[in-house]
Amino acid sequence: MKSILDVDELPKRWYSILPDLPEPLPPPLDPETDKPIAPEKLKRIFAAKLVEQEMSLERYIDIPEEIREIYLKIGRPTPIYRATNLEKALNTPARIYFKYEGETITGSHKINTAVAQAYFAKKEGIETLITETGAGQWGTALSVAGSLLGLKIRVYMARASYIQKPYRKILMKVYGAEVYPSPSNRTEVGRKFLKEDPQHPGSLGIAISEAIEDVLRDEKARYSLGSVLNHVLMHQSVIGEEARIQMEKIGEDVDVLVGCVGGGSNFAGLTYPFIRNMLQGKKDYEIYAVESRAAPSMTRGVYTYDYGDSGRLTPKIKMHTLGHRYYVPPIHAGGLRYHGLAPTLSVLVNHAIVTPVAYHQREVFEAAILFAKNEGIVPAPESAHAVKGVIDLALDAKKKGEKKVILFNLSGHGLLDLNGYDSYLKGEMIDYEPTELPMSRVNA
Ligand SMILES: *Cc1c(COP(=O)(O)O)cnc(C)c1O
Repeated sequence: MKSILDVDELPKRWYSILPDLPEPLPPPLDPETDKPIAPEKLKRIFAAKLVEQEMSLERYIDIPEEIREIYLKIGRPTPIYRATNLEKALNTPARIYFKYEGETITGSHKINTAVAQAYFAKKEGIETLITETGAGQWGTALSVAGSLLGLKIRVYMARASYIQKPYRKILMKVYGAEVYPSPSNRTEVGRKFLKEDPQHPGSLGIAISEAIEDVLRDEKARYSLGSVLNHVLMHQSVIGEEARIQMEKIGEDVDVLVGCVGGGSNFAGLTYPFIRNMLQGKKDYEIYAVESRAAPSMTRGVYTYDYGDSGRLTPKIKMHTLGHRYYVPPIHAGGLRYHGLAPTLSVLVNHAIVTPVAYHQREVFEAAILFAKNEGIVPAPESAHAVKGVIDLALDAKKKGEKKVILFNLSGHGLLDLNGYDSYLKGEMIDYEPTELPMSRVNA
């Protein structure tokens, strides 16, 4: 049996980038008063410990031993592989490495924060965690965490995914979670959207509103979010802390870092422990954040205060946003559909520490298939955005004859996302891109 005593790569503490940011984060605002929100109010929505972590300016927070034991159980530390066949196929002098989060038990990085959130909630006597899920990875991760730690889990799943992705719904139920298609008739927000359209496909923004409304009428319940917030990104720092040590062991010095971005959590997980060196003036990297052209918050969004949900129940946070009314239609299979962006990542983009890139979904799936054929792993559609970014960087390195070391995060596998691959292979996939956005610097 693996034991934390002999796994030296498993981090002992999480890293929070807040004290190292080039400027302090603006505070979250109370949606009713537009004044900085009182922590007490946030504690009605989130577990108290997570609110403390959200606001903390500590650089490091110890990972409780019980959570480290669970990290072992769910597959941490995850491996780093070198994509040697892909390098040959591209004939690039670049050396390409990837951290593979698909090897956790739920097949993506989301379990890293799910177990931490469930652990702290359980310790506070909370009985139920309520959340939303889009494609279903987050709902699955929280469902496992709930069953491992003895909490009830209730999930609002966007109706389009609920119908198109039955396997994730089944998986959540296997772990004992309750799953409802959203909009549902269980909440006022849900009923409002159902009245407009009884077959409403739903969206992340609507599902978040439903989850929060549900939390507010159940004293023993709290809400749980799988991305965007500071504490979520901090829990994900285990990815980069492991990767740093693993790359050192291999004897490689990283030049370029790449990750895909929805809300920003897996990207932050890999890159922030490296960006720490940059912000402390110790080392420089090229860092690329890859998003979908269907939800281009970094490349077309506005940096402003906005709600996290369509029903305007969440605190307002300052971030790159497309507007809380924005939603990506279900014909888009490439994931990465959230309208907002982690506030810390928004600041790093503003300061040009991180360079954003956006791709269409067909070129992303083409890259994913090249990767699968050469490395054997089928990437999650979200992760495939990072793969596409890396391929372009490796081809650029070939043109310039540069022997760069590229490290990227393969945030999950795509074995439960084969519908998207099917539609690509049949030639039915289209490149969706919004022309008008509710909030935008650039309307196409
Ligand atoms: C949810 C998810 C993402 C996008 O979310 P982030 O918070 O930006 O990481 C990316 N990859 C996979 C596999 C996911 O499940």
